Amino acid sequence: MLIAASVLAGSGALAQMPASGPAQPQLTYVRCGALWDGKSDQLQHDIVITIEAGRVRTLATTAPSQVSGLIDLSDQTCLPGLIDTHTHVLALSAGEMQQGAENDSVSARTLRGASLARRALDYGFTSIRDLNSMGVDGADADISRAIARGLIPGPRMQVATAGLSTSGSGSTVHACDGADGCRRAVREAVARGANWIKVFADRGVRRLPEGIFDDQPTFTLEELRAIVDEAHRQARRVAAHASGKTSVHNAVEAGVDSIEHGMYIAPEDMTVMLSKGIWYVPSLYLMTKAVFGSPEQEAQSQPGVRIIIDTFKRALRTGVKVAYGTDVGAFDWTTTPAIQLPLMVQHGMTPVQALRSATAAAAELLQTQRDVGTLEAGKFADIVAVSGNPLEDVAALQKVSFVMKGGVVIRR
Ligand SMILES: [Zn+2]
Repeated sequence: MLIAASVLAGSGALAQMPASGPAQPQLTYVRCGALWDGKSDQLQHDIVITIEAGRVRTLATTAPSQVSGLIDLSDQTCLPGLIDTHTHVLALSAGEMQQGAENDSVSARTLRGASLARRALDYGFTSIRDLNSMGVDGADADISRAIARGLIPGPRMQVATAGLSTSGSGSTVHACDGADGCRRAVREAVARGANWIKVFADRGVRRLPEGIFDDQPTFTLEELRAIVDEAHRQARRVAAHASGKTSVHNAVEAGVDSIEHGMYIAPEDMTVMLSKGIWYVPSLYLMTKAVFGSPEQEAQSQPGVRIIIDTFKRALRTGVKVAYGTDVGAFDWTTTPAIQLPLMVQHGMTPVQALRSATAAAAELLQTQRDVGTLEAGKFADIVAVSGNPLEDVAALQKVSFVMKGGVVIRR
């Protein structure tokens, strides 16, 4: 029956084709004064991007002679749309919590989440990975689907639905216990639309006198292995919130796909991350800046900050794969997630490395590199533009002047 229906649909399409042949393709042109394609170490100059059906058709140094509807960004630098691999569109700000917003209806929370997804896009983040539905389980998957169907504007979105933790871990997670119980939780998350399984691998992070962070693991290794096995069996992947030595070690042993935060990662675990291809998503801005309530608190916390920065620097030296993830939502969405880029440069990345972590590398983590992450023929026309040279100053990305997603202008 399915085959018959598709055959009928095919002949219907043929019947509707005009006798004069297929229509001319609709083309859009974007002229960029400079362009960073996500691959090169350098800018190209005076590039015209030709876009057809939402994708880049060509990048060329000259525009066709008769061009209507050219978008002129000749005083701007174009880059691939940014990717934040750790967001929370369903998070509530401190002010909203004070107003009791956690008791709002599911629809109110979902609408708020949709507006924050839209804000991510306005900031130039054309793809995000949202890692926990914050007590509104499935709302992230609904927002993602509504965006994909074109009902509301927003970034391309991968979601986790409710993150998994063990019993007694609070209302914003899905508690599971035992290997079988956690397999079941993974299956339920997949059924609700999870692209990723988020596991909270730790609680009770503490700084030890020897200059490391350690923590109390939530799951047993057996439970974590069951989660990873079940997720991978269903072509889903696992992001582990893991802050200190023990939880990172267990998550790496279990074979998760990304370590979120990783405030301290032991050198031997970093070596295993490298060999297994496990990603490190260091939320540097949150952990070294945004988390502090006052300058005094920030000053007192500097010994811990040094451990986090040392871990980041060791990861760069070791060659562990780093993807850009900020945990925005844990800090307020009134701040652009691009605020973390200069910090990554300050602590050892080159500007190109930092920009790659938020474009091509992030796309690799999301396994969407065939479609996004670089500007080249065949990929989606997800484009941002900024003033100045972002390869000299990545802070330029904190003020994008132009955003296009899939060939559609979002902001100009
Ligand atoms: Zn988070």
